Amino acid sequence: MSSRKRKLEQNSIWDRTKVENLFSKNEIKSIHIDKLYKYLVRNVKQKSWANMKDYPKAAMKLLNENFEFCTSKVLGAQEAEDGTTKLLVELQDGSQIEEVIMYYDTRNNEKGTGRRRATLCVSCQIGCQMACTFCATGTMGLKGSLTEGEIIEQFVHALDIADISNIVFMGMGEPLNNYNNVKAALKMLTDSRFFALQNSHITLSTVGVIPRIMTFAEDFPKCNLALSLHAPNQELRKRIIPTAKGYKLDKLMNTIKQYQEKTKNAIFIEYLLLHKINDTEKEARELGELLKDIKCTVNLIPWNSIESPSINYKSPLHEDIIKFKEILKEYDIPSTIRQSKGNDIAGACGQLVVDQSKQGKNKKIKIVDIEDLSKK
Ligand code: SF4
Repeated sequence: MSSRKRKLEQNSIWDRTKVENLFSKNEIKSIHIDKLYKYLVRNVKQKSWANMKDYPKAAMKLLNENFEFCTSKVLGAQEAEDGTTKLLVELQDGSQIEEVIMYYDTRNNEKGTGRRRATLCVSCQIGCQMACTFCATGTMGLKGSLTEGEIIEQFVHALDIADISNIVFMGMGEPLNNYNNVKAALKMLTDSRFFALQNSHITLSTVGVIPRIMTFAEDFPKCNLALSLHAPNQELRKRIIPTAKGYKLDKLMNTIKQYQEKTKNAIFIEYLLLHKINDTEKEARELGELLKDIKCTVNLIPWNSIESPSINYKSPLHEDIIKFKEILKEYDIPSTIRQSKGNDIAGACGQLVVDQSKQGKNKKIKIVDIEDLSKK
């Protein structure tokens, strides 16, 4: 999938590819690139490379003349009672995106293996071309894709607020439609010489861009994959996710099996429950059959019609949600039910859309981290 070209005048220092190209053109040794990023990561709160010692003058001049520490800025924050914080970020071309910091404390879990952590949900596009019928971001269309630097800048902004240990690519946009930039950002974020996040602490959520799923498996076999499935058959899936027309369900499930053979990872299945559309016993049994050979946890997300009044779906009945979950259990498929809007932010692909009118208003948000789902 191609993405719209944006006209960008500033370069982010976090666009490593651009730094590499410029240094190579000017015959500056690549050793100075690693040195730069080691310095930046260690001194990230300084927001500058000006005090870097023993650095070649020519390289320093190139950096000073061509790069900014951050090309984006945080315009405002919305904080929930439990600390969940949504940041509104303005990019250099005036586009706006959102990122969300979520806090989890699993120290009291059954196995006693939990920890306290902060997870960042990042955006990778401005809007999205996939036009899923339930998705606020999809209504914007695609305005453009983020650079690797803009993706990393979201992490850098979040570090001002929390010590982020986990990242989920579940904000605005389809990460596999901006894969080169997502890949470059992931390399910097997981490289043990730089930000050193654990691969197992990264989750990428896709609506099913089949050609890129195995590429992701090859590049990041230890990262997690979440699939926004939302329907157990092709006809229904096409109604909910129009792009499923091109990415057929049988091919998608074969690709998921290949992904599991390659990575041995369990995957997260996101399933939005829409009243009388995909939440009946028939769909639950079809889903059970579809997933019986897949190592996965299903995250059932009851549609919240109050939170999204402009989208014409109805919330499922409580008894239908419980029944759906019980049927999946008959098929030995673990599932969890997500309860609130905060949870929507935490786990559903692309549930963010910029709405400045809501900035600053507190909301009660209850959250389960997607990575904990597989441990239940
Ligand atoms: S759900 Fe994800 S893929 Fe679908 S329109 Fe929204 S952001 Fe795009």
